[in-house]
Amino acid sequence: MEETVKVLIIGSGPAGYTAAIYTSRANLAPVLYEGIEPGGQLTTTTDVENFPGHPDGVTGPDLMAQMRRQAERFGADIRTGTITRVDLASRPFHVVVDGTREIKAETLIIATGASAKYLGLPSETKFRGQGVSACATCDGFFYRKKEVAVVGGGDTACEEASYLASLCKRVYMIVRKPHLRASKAMQQRVFNTPNIEVLFEHNTAEVLGDESGVTGALLRRNDGTEVKIDIAGFFLAIGHHPNTELFSDQLALDAEGYIKVEPGTSKTSVEGVFAAGDVRDPHYRQAITAAASGCIAALDCERFLLR
Ligand SMILES: Cc1cc2nc3c(=O)[nH]c(=O)nc-3n(C[C@H](O)[C@H](O)[C@H](O)COP(=O)(O)OP(=O)(O)OC[C@H]3O[C@@H](n4cnc5c(N)ncnc54)[C@H](O)[C@@H]3O)c2cc1C
Repeated sequence: MEETVKVLIIGSGPAGYTAAIYTSRANLAPVLYEGIEPGGQLTTTTDVENFPGHPDGVTGPDLMAQMRRQAERFGADIRTGTITRVDLASRPFHVVVDGTREIKAETLIIATGASAKYLGLPSETKFRGQGVSACATCDGFFYRKKEVAVVGGGDTACEEASYLASLCKRVYMIVRKPHLRASKAMQQRVFNTPNIEVLFEHNTAEVLGDESGVTGALLRRNDGTEVKIDIAGFFLAIGHHPNTELFSDQLALDAEGYIKVEPGTSKTSVEGVFAAGDVRDPHYRQAITAAASGCIAALDCERFLLR
């Protein structure tokens, strides 16, 4: 017989686990599918120093294991598996796990996250977490008084470069085009910051490093000439990819593919479907904001079911 659950949570990052903690404590017997990255993005990093309640810092995997344990303590049913299809046309929603198993869900909390885009260089992959980062807010602090580079020419890249410039000795911006794509105000901020140097018409050929991590980058100008810069941190700011393919023709998404929610809530364009974490947040993308929005989604979901 096909299983029907009250609350189905998709994703096991801070948003999904927090939603599981709240909905299990509300006696809603949530079922959570963890997807291909159990614990989410934080499991790919070592030091997390900005999650409240951990004055000495905590590793990403430890923090996520604690959240999981906390959800399980209240009875959340955490399962291995990836949601491969959803049908949101009518409630209960029809959900397929790993292409075979079918489940019906009275409500859905989507917490599938957003993945940072990388250039795709093998050397970039090799030094990920050892100098290569896609989050200046998360990792900038580790590069205080050092030289770093930011890849990208849009608003986010300018924002990340400005933030890093307040911590680091020097920030190179590696920009493919002869101009920045960012708004005029952001461009002005970058050009007025003395320790940001914009390298127009440069592409990264290789991230350089040794056993200690990143030590530099080899850049190729559009005219074919090469230049090497010495840096300790290499920050990507070329965009994120929200994990929303499953929902693309069923939920309202913004131009970049993030799930649109009713302002101040987690309510999506379909009644009974709630979104939490990076998948609905093009701006903040932090563990604490993801956890907070997991709480909001759980409370919205609980109120919806009580109606
Ligand atoms: C290297 C790195 C370091 C970071 N450092 C920090 C830091 O120090 N501090 C900080 O606050 N933030 C940090 N962040 C950002 C933080 O990790 C994210 O903001 C946070 O994890 C977002 O949580 P989330 O729950 O929205 O999604 P995610 O953590 O992205 O989790 C998404 C989950 O959805 C699952 N999923 C996706 N598709 C499916 C599917 N079809 N079916 C089932 N499951 C699915 C995945 O398996 C995953 O479990 C860092 C990020 C990275 C990449």
